[in-house]
Amino acid sequence: MHAASTVYASRIQRFRLPRICVAVVGDDPTKIIDRAESLVRDNPFMEFRLDYLTSPASGLPKLKHFLDMHPEATVIATCRRAVNGGKFKGSASAQLDVLTKAATAGFQLVDIELQSAEILKTGELARLKDQVGVILSFHDFKATRKLEETFADMKRYPADFYKVVSTATTLHDNVQMMKFLQAHSAQFEMVGLCMGEQGIISRVLGVRAGSIFTFAAATRGEETAPGQVTAGELRDTYRIEIVDAATQVYGVAGDPVAHSLSPIMMNTAFRRETVNAVYLALHAKSLKDLITCVQEIPIRGLSITLPYKQDIVEALANSDPLTRQIGACNTVVRGQDGKLYGFNTDVAGILVPLEQRLALPGAKVLVVGAGGAARAAVFGLKNKGAEVFITNRTAEKGQALARQAKAKYMKRADVAKASFDVIINATPVGMGGNKQSPLEDKELNTRFLFDLVYVPAETKLAKMAKAKNIHVIPGLEMFVQQGARQFEIWTGKPAPVAEMGFVVSKALERMATQAVEEAPAPANAAPARSVKSEAEPAAGKSAKPAARKKASPAARKPAKNAAKKPAKRKR
Ligand code: NAP
Repeated sequence: MHAASTVYASRIQRFRLPRICVAVVGDDPTKIIDRAESLVRDNPFMEFRLDYLTSPASGLPKLKHFLDMHPEATVIATCRRAVNGGKFKGSASAQLDVLTKAATAGFQLVDIELQSAEILKTGELARLKDQVGVILSFHDFKATRKLEETFADMKRYPADFYKVVSTATTLHDNVQMMKFLQAHSAQFEMVGLCMGEQGIISRVLGVRAGSIFTFAAATRGEETAPGQVTAGELRDTYRIEIVDAATQVYGVAGDPVAHSLSPIMMNTAFRRETVNAVYLALHAKSLKDLITCVQEIPIRGLSITLPYKQDIVEALANSDPLTRQIGACNTVVRGQDGKLYGFNTDVAGILVPLEQRLALPGAKVLVVGAGGAARAAVFGLKNKGAEVFITNRTAEKGQALARQAKAKYMKRADVAKASFDVIINATPVGMGGNKQSPLEDKELNTRFLFDLVYVPAETKLAKMAKAKNIHVIPGLEMFVQQGARQFEIWTGKPAPVAEMGFVVSKALERMATQAVEEAPAPANAAPARSVKSEAEPAAGKSAKPAARKKASPAARKPAKNAAKKPAKRKR
């Protein structure tokens, strides 16, 4: 029953559609038009959510004017019914009526849910398809499951595009989605992605697997589905327009990773050195999920971050001597044989900035902390012939590390009495919103302070040190240098260190500005702009715009309400 192409097919051929569609929402047509006007130059492919209009049909004449004025724009009309996660309270036949009028108004595409198609009378959907390109859609707000069964139902109805949006609860769900897209995209015009923070892979690599396009938020702060990235990020950071079958895939794996600066840094390096590769944030809730995903998606390399730096060692076929010595791996290469090989570039991340400033043999260095970063520092410095002291909140851990590395443990009470060439802060104290310092002013008797914390760019400890004329080495340098070594291991090319540092410092500046802007607003603050995504569940149930605007890292975790919204269709 899959209908042949219609007169509209020529207007919506896959190669004519941009890869990114931005959803625009407003409760009256003027708001939609105002927002669309500001977006259309950079985003000529948009979705207007008619179901958010108080009266969808009566808003169409105004929207028609926008379409007439912007022949360069391709716009989808969506009027999702409330029972299927939208806001439209009318029946399926009232929905059909709105979409038919939208076609007359000049929308090139309309989106209608499978559940509505199942209700409509025979021939009604086909008649709509004769007038306009039809996207037949299905959304699962809970999980990624039964994709084939769902698609078997969808194929019974005529459509120009079949859109399946699920929710990723594991990284492996992305694999399922991509296999699904690969299986059908030669025969059908497919659109597919996984929502959820763990679904980022599918948003970028879905197009590589056969999705004709994907959806994005207009700007940061306007994310409306968990895991959604902005159109700018998809374009500039992930270079989605050039992702193809030959694109190599890399990523940073950890839990959490949503706010990692590695994607912006590594994608910049790949772009600068014209490497056809994309680097993603892989939110792995378990190591097993990560390993399964890596085996099924041809991931060429991984940056490993907390909490897997130690556990990943077990999964490696082999590793470099530093990884074995430290017992932690932050860099994985997948060999031609499919096996995983580990390296530790955190050591270089610490040593390179130091060696650029002083001779390490014989240098007296205090490492504060005894966790993963401290281990990298202590072993790396010992190998270079430095005299290494360790102090740690939990003395036993610090003493154990000192024994292993043949370094010396220093009681905290003795720190103020000693002086050093370098003090390294390898604790998280001062990170993020933490305004504390791991050391007191009187304990800062050193020529150099290397604060491994890099968010914020300047911690309280760094400020205290600067006030004492101590030369401060920012944590950013470790971040860039460990990433630079990763780039070199993966590509065999010298890393563009200056560009990498530049984009990370700019990102840190933006984060600092954002933190100021996102400080709690007065109670009567105006709500944020109302741009919503491809698949936001029914109104009022998801994160309120005003709350989103202030989203802290914690607040931006997957919107539980989205996950809670049940897929009405029982399978
Ligand atoms: P980790 O393995 O969790 O170790 C944290 C260490 O900090 C432990 O020794 C812990 O002491 C100590 N610590 C934690 N909270 C403390 C507190 N409130 N007061 C005093 N000591 C405290 O973490 P990690 O992987 O080593 O990372 C440590 C920090 O280094 C990170 O937070 C990050 O800021 C920074 N880092 C930066 C880079 C970079 O590229 N610039 C890379 C890696 C890490 P106990 O033993 O008593 O628990």
